Amino acid sequence: MKLALPDFTLRSWKGPLTEELIRHPGEFGLGQVPVRIKPDATTTTVCGYCSTGCGLNVHLKDGEAINLSADSEYPVNLGMACPKGWEALTPLSAPDRAVAPMLRRQRGGKLDSVSWEEAMEVFCQKLKAIKEEHGPESVAFLSTGQITTEEMAYLGCLYKFGMGFVHCDSNTRQCMASAHVAYKQSFGFDAPPFTYADFEESDVLVFVGANPCIAHPIMWQRVMRNRRNPEIIVVDPRKTETAMAATQHYPIRPKSDLVLLYGLANILIASGWIDRPFIDAHTTGFREFAEFVTKFTTERVCQETGLAADELWRFARTIADGKRVSFWWTMGVNQSHEGTRTAQALINLALITGNIGRPGTGANSITGQCNAMGSRVFGNITSLLGGHDVSDPADRRKVATILGIDENAIPQQSSMAYDQILRGIDEGRIKALWVIATNGAHSWINHNDFNSLLDKLDFLVVQDMYHTTETAQRADLILPAAGWGEKDGTLINSERRIGVIKKVRRAPGQALSDFSIFQLIAHSWGCSEMFERWQTPEKVFQILKEITRGKPCEFTGIEDYRMIDQAGGIQWPFTADTPPGAERRLFEDGRFFTPDHRARILFDEPAPMPEAPDIDYPFLLLTGRGTSSQWHTNTRTGKSDVLRKLYPAECYVEIHVDDARRLGIARHSSVRIASRRGELVAKAAVTSTVQPGQIFLPMHYREVNRLTFPAFDTYSRQPSYKACAVAITPLGRQ
Ligand code: SF4
Repeated sequence: MKLALPDFTLRSWKGPLTEELIRHPGEFGLGQVPVRIKPDATTTTVCGYCSTGCGLNVHLKDGEAINLSADSEYPVNLGMACPKGWEALTPLSAPDRAVAPMLRRQRGGKLDSVSWEEAMEVFCQKLKAIKEEHGPESVAFLSTGQITTEEMAYLGCLYKFGMGFVHCDSNTRQCMASAHVAYKQSFGFDAPPFTYADFEESDVLVFVGANPCIAHPIMWQRVMRNRRNPEIIVVDPRKTETAMAATQHYPIRPKSDLVLLYGLANILIASGWIDRPFIDAHTTGFREFAEFVTKFTTERVCQETGLAADELWRFARTIADGKRVSFWWTMGVNQSHEGTRTAQALINLALITGNIGRPGTGANSITGQCNAMGSRVFGNITSLLGGHDVSDPADRRKVATILGIDENAIPQQSSMAYDQILRGIDEGRIKALWVIATNGAHSWINHNDFNSLLDKLDFLVVQDMYHTTETAQRADLILPAAGWGEKDGTLINSERRIGVIKKVRRAPGQALSDFSIFQLIAHSWGCSEMFERWQTPEKVFQILKEITRGKPCEFTGIEDYRMIDQAGGIQWPFTADTPPGAERRLFEDGRFFTPDHRARILFDEPAPMPEAPDIDYPFLLLTGRGTSSQWHTNTRTGKSDVLRKLYPAECYVEIHVDDARRLGIARHSSVRIASRRGELVAKAAVTSTVQPGQIFLPMHYREVNRLTFPAFDTYSRQPSYKACAVAITPLGRQ
């Protein structure tokens, strides 16, 4: 094998060039410097699956992780972990790891292993040729909430400032975009205000479209530690595991949540159950809002949500009586055609009742992926690095100065969103796509569309741990990436806590950390000078730290990774003046991040569901998380025998017992489910957890998104996965 190491390594490497060196440059202090850990020791890290961000102890033998356990000292999880965390090392040893770059030399041909040198040559040659012929808007990347903050920042800066492209997005568009936009518009910055202690300190917890029992089980454990005998209210069309554990469950009609929340606001305002001094001192828009919600009478709300009047009033009364009320939401709110306004309707309830900035309160979006928060602030996708505004000359100047780059290298144009990038491919405007650590061919809404669009590309690059994902299988070029546990960096969890992940395993074969891959690309593209200081993840962390100075997410008080590790993670903001303490919430002084420091009360008329059931497709399909042992597209969790035993191997559908009886569907028999876009076969789980006329499919099975309807929130462009019309046909036992 011909070794061709780029300058960035040669600059510091004085020893012989060996194959081992290019496979594992991090081991040699090149490209990526591993945190030095004793070969037979226990070290700490944070989990790389979900946004809870649990602390784990990793046990090593001869320098390689052999086992792990939950960290009892870490303030997030206090010694607990869910099945995914306990099994986090297993997917690293899967036989389908991508161990070398792979190239498909001609369409329809097979993927061959090639050297990194050839892979980089093809990558740069193809993208430069497309840029030359079709312009900088003809290429896009789709990234992830699963890589480290430093890697996200490197990718965003390399792509926009170094390579000169414009359009890019992340799979966080699929889960968090509505919360991101809602916070930005309402608070002036994307700032989830809470700390996990709030789970334990509320006396009323309202969960809307959230099922933490299985989706965020460690957060649910924090709720279970609450000693205030809290009211736990769940708003969800399904009787989820969390709804079963709640003190009040409101099984509203799907997508009637916005009407319900406006109706609650109307009752609270009309009854005087609001915090007028807080509203007057800290918000704008209340008068207009109070007038707007008068339309949401008890009669209207009951008619549209399916709730009884006394249920609605009990709900409102519980909020009014609560001294510490917290409002929590996840995908049931965000993944909606009006997700931004629904999230803001929850924010409005917190604002008008003064339930923010105090222990046990808040309008609190629970994030999905382990580093969705990193992506939101440092992805350099819709905002400029560090939550700066790409259209603000002062912000562009500040970022350019800190990075030491020409201000003109920062494009002023905003990127297209995920769905707009796909439309661009369809219309022939986008010719090349670079997919990093995500599997849109499985996860994108109505993915038949996604898959057919891949055929229209001139060049598809997939950078992933595995060469077997549905998207990787379609690639012209696969770049093999190291995974969690095989690299260093930081992640930011749901409560804004920065945690450190460490390299505790060697990546297989020639797989490199995403960080090192970006370094190789910078070198091969010819823009490595711009990234001279970006030598290691920790050096990038120092640059990012400086960029946050003066912003709400400032963490200039953090010295280094070691400080984060020793503190058990550190929440932003954290400046040199921040008092010590493991837990911190925002807005304790009632000052928000808007120019006048007042929160905005924002609202819109609810819009009809984009695809309601009708005579041909009479059922409403709901989708969501199946079990706590499944993660998204099962790319990693599907590799663990232990986890696979904890969920059904075949796709199953929850159907109400009355519907099953009427259609002659027996338990565990097969049914065909069809939408206007596709169909699938699933096993019937006959149950009363769903309401008559509704069915539920877990999103982890690859066939589910054949059915979903591609509707998007107007403000956030987040897909509305949760509701579309389907028909069911019994197939009997198969
Ligand atoms: Fe990992 Fe999330 Fe499970 Fe914690 S709850 S162990 S962060 S997957």
